Amino acid sequence: MEYEKGRIFLLRVPEGEELVEYIKKFAEKKGIKMAVISAIGSLKRAKLGYFNIGWGRYEVFTATGIHELIAATGNISLKDGKPFPHIHALLGEHDGSTVGGHLIEGDVFVAEVYIEELKGEPLERVPHGNLALWKAEDLSN
Ligand code: ZN
Repeated sequence: MEYEKGRIFLLRVPEGEELVEYIKKFAEKKGIKMAVISAIGSLKRAKLGYFNIGWGRYEVFTATGIHELIAATGNISLKDGKPFPHIHALLGEHDGSTVGGHLIEGDVFVAEVYIEELKGEPLERVPHGNLALWKAEDLSN
């Protein structure tokens, strides 16, 4: 799919908010259907997922305590007609080591978020096993 750049937002998420839900609500409020996202900051707790292909579902683990949000990257598309953020996060420990994965929830201490809206036909997520994926790009025609 091809898109044009739409509105660009920079926002600071208030302390105590849950990052994924906050971005979802922000997108709903602003009418954002497609976007690319990046964020940095610090999280107080994060629930992360690792999709285990053998199990066909996520292994979920929690990073407790303050972690640097070194990098979060992702997108917004539609799921059931509503904006759905898909975000991956790399978190830093106090000794510089890192953990990361599919961001299920993140409790914000500080988060500086960049959202770049994409204008064009929105992609809708459709069920694919236990995942909700975009229709794969078809290069055959
Ligand atoms: Zn993911």
